[in-house]
Amino acid sequence: MTWDFSMPVKIHFGCGKTREIGKIIDEIGGKRGVLVLSKTLKNNGVGEKIKEYCGGRIAADFCDIRPNPTTDNVNECVRVLRETGADFAVALGGGSPMDCCKAACAIAKGEDIIESYHTMGKPVSADEAIPMIAVPTTSGTGSEITNISVLTDMKKGIKTPMNDPAMYPKAAVVDPELTLSVPPKVTASTGLDVLAHAVESYWSVLHQPICESCSLHAARLVFRWLYKAYTEPDNITAREKMAEASIIAGVAFSNPRTTGSHACSFPLTNLYGVPHGEACAMTLDYFIRLNAKGDDGRIECFARDCGFADAYAMADEVTELKRKMGMAMTLSQIGVKAEEEIEELTRLSMHPLLKNNPVKLDFDDIKKMYEAIK
Ligand SMILES: [Zn+2]
Repeated sequence: MTWDFSMPVKIHFGCGKTREIGKIIDEIGGKRGVLVLSKTLKNNGVGEKIKEYCGGRIAADFCDIRPNPTTDNVNECVRVLRETGADFAVALGGGSPMDCCKAACAIAKGEDIIESYHTMGKPVSADEAIPMIAVPTTSGTGSEITNISVLTDMKKGIKTPMNDPAMYPKAAVVDPELTLSVPPKVTASTGLDVLAHAVESYWSVLHQPICESCSLHAARLVFRWLYKAYTEPDNITAREKMAEASIIAGVAFSNPRTTGSHACSFPLTNLYGVPHGEACAMTLDYFIRLNAKGDDGRIECFARDCGFADAYAMADEVTELKRKMGMAMTLSQIGVKAEEEIEELTRLSMHPLLKNNPVKLDFDDIKKMYEAIK
């Protein structure tokens, strides 16, 4: 077995850590920055607080970002960075501001638009990039420590990730206090995304030792704390443990990537608007049962190390967690009505990430799965 591991993001973790952001800006040599955030965080005052902690170095902000950000959002953000003469940016929010900011910072010192890099093959260059500090407000995507930005080009109708070593944030500030106001439904969905990252990176054909120990650590935390964070939003310990799980799961999938459930989640989100984590969870229990049959006993060990009798008991717990937290369990619940829609879902699920799945799956296998959760 051979493997490589790289994690260039400096992680600052803990309650109240955002108050130290000024020091972190000093460390990266930032003088004049832009705050990239969601509209909600701009309107509810959290953005203002972060600006205050940045010590007067935020010259502008940008919040015109839709969920599943578009290349147009990125180009607008780039325009603000260039007009401001920004030498750094702070991304505040969930996956969308993070992904938008990551792509914008990567080309901020250049002159081109993002489409040239996103789908037309122009390489990202470290010379065109400015540093970014990621401040997540949900525990889920792990985007704050990856170099991946998933963007949608509306004109071409393409949603695909962009990634380059120059796109890693310089630092991630993970402050669990910021997640206290996350509503239960979002806590459930983003928490199940963490679980999918942990489990899928573990069984990915690209798995490797450092990441798999992170997978196990993160999964155990989710099984222990997610439901508590869902039922007791103010429980700071539960929030802290889920924030820890999220970032450790981010390390877990940063190199091995994800597999079947993530491949199938994309059309569930794009066609039926299912939130990302909930979409991954729709097939996660099915994939646990299916992959447990085909692998060499690793998944059994993983399930036992998480405290379950076997992989099937772990899959049952995932099903139960989804049920208890009101997540979609069947395709009819999300609005899939006709048989042809299952064909289309199957076709769009044949994503490159399926190649990372430990059991090889073809069109008929995926269709059978969708039929089973009709
Ligand atoms: Zn995910």
